[in-house]
Amino acid sequence: MAKYPFELNQLIAYLKKLPGVGTKTAERFAFHLLGWQEAEIKNFSSSLFHLKEKITQCAECHCLTGENTCFFCSSSLRDKTQLCIVASPRDAYSIDETGAFRGLYHVLGGLLSPIDGKTPEHLNLEHLKKRITTLGVKEVIIALDSTLEGDTTSLFLKEQIQTWGLPVSRLAFGIPIGSSLDFVDGGTLARALTGRQSF
Ligand SMILES: [Zn+2]
Repeated sequence: MAKYPFELNQLIAYLKKLPGVGTKTAERFAFHLLGWQEAEIKNFSSSLFHLKEKITQCAECHCLTGENTCFFCSSSLRDKTQLCIVASPRDAYSIDETGAFRGLYHVLGGLLSPIDGKTPEHLNLEHLKKRITTLGVKEVIIALDSTLEGDTTSLFLKEQIQTWGLPVSRLAFGIPIGSSLDFVDGGTLARALTGRQSF
């Protein structure tokens, strides 16, 4: 690293913080950036500079927004009777990109994890309950990770939401599209069997 000027070394070190970027890739990116026009570099650094101050969380659903309310909450075309609970804003965008869901989202901002001190109080259920009532939600879809924390949180939420008299569903678990049964692990296969559908 010492072979490069200090500023270049610093840029490479920052680029390496990005997921999936090792030294070689970071060097390639850094040299690529050196080839950019000065105006373009300035616009890029300006967008980085303002990233944290301009992007906030929607007060309603906690998705990301540059305004008071987000793209989802401010749209009149969304089905307000369906609410999908996700762990992070990114999950909401991933689900929305499928085009298969046109309801509203609710970002939890984390999962239950007693070891890390993440208790039910961190899930802010009061806010969730208030949204469900205000929006007139008729169905809640839980779309959390299929991990120990995700399963624990899903079960906890299901029990809570059912006491509020609402039907709760969870994303189906199954065989990835295009994959062969040979390559699917036992846990996924067992879940796919449990969640089988009539055909
Ligand atoms: Zn929102």
